[in-house]
Amino acid sequence: MTTSVPFAEVIGDPIAQSKSPLIHKFWLERLAIKADYRAHHVASAELADYVEQRRADPAWRGCNVTLPHKIDIMDLVSDPGGVRDKIGAMNTIVRQEDGSLIGTNTDAAGFLAPIADSDWSGKHAVMIGAGGAARAVVFALKQAGIGQITIIARSGLKATGLLMQASVKGSVLPMDAILPKADLLINASPLGMTGKPPLEVDLDPLPADALVYDLVYAPLKTSLLRAALKRDLAVVDGLDMLIGQAALAFELFFGTTPPMEHDAELRKLLTA
Ligand code: NAP
Repeated sequence: MTTSVPFAEVIGDPIAQSKSPLIHKFWLERLAIKADYRAHHVASAELADYVEQRRADPAWRGCNVTLPHKIDIMDLVSDPGGVRDKIGAMNTIVRQEDGSLIGTNTDAAGFLAPIADSDWSGKHAVMIGAGGAARAVVFALKQAGIGQITIIARSGLKATGLLMQASVKGSVLPMDAILPKADLLINASPLGMTGKPPLEVDLDPLPADALVYDLVYAPLKTSLLRAALKRDLAVVDGLDMLIGQAALAFELFFGTTPPMEHDAELRKLLTA
């Protein structure tokens, strides 16, 4: 569809569940920018045609990319930042004025934003899951100087590949392993998400100053975070990362930073 109003969108299959339109529209309205952001369903077989069609539309500023396209999209756009080698997944495509398309990944920086004030150099992180989001987490933690990462995953092969690709020191454990002592525990699996089984893990081995970070944002207070709060551990929920990655994409699409002073209102809207 060609339209003269500038717009961006999020593509995926399924896509109706995406919170991205709510976030970007909230910021566009607050800044009184005349532009649109919407959800657009794209099946895997349609991805290449979608990209070619949008490339020709100067009103299209770009798109966020969610499951299942984060890997396949890398073959269809240019990669000046070396995201393919560094992370292995893209979540944001930006159209340049000449119609060229640049792919990037804002998940990594979005993940790190809420914990960037702490010093992670030499520390030990344990991460559950080894999928697309986990790739961005490993890259971000490496950037932050993490000492080692233990990945707990049902596919040991995937987890080992992730550590090797990122050249990060670490090890891999099966899903039923006892949690090792760690400074940071991250859930990068869908366990605990509405409609999925809860993440059952005994937090006893974590020291009192450990941080527990759940990427899941629906529900916001997952069973993992509830268990961590019961032990008085510091926690970060998935909404911080969701808003953080969206903020970086918003700037790339619309050329201005979002009004973060309305964050509390936005969080309320997203959890309503
Ligand atoms: P993904 O690519 O499908 O990866 C999911 C990972 O979890 C895979 O390693 C998968 O194992 C594992 N897994 C799935 N079901 C499992 C189960 N029942 N038991 C054990 N392991 C299981 O998904 P993703 O994009 O990485 O997303 C993961 C989670 O992060 C989702 O809940 C998503 O909503 C959330 N997320 C949040 C943000 C945010 O901004 N807050 C951003 C991205 C993702 P296999 O490899 O064996 O399939």
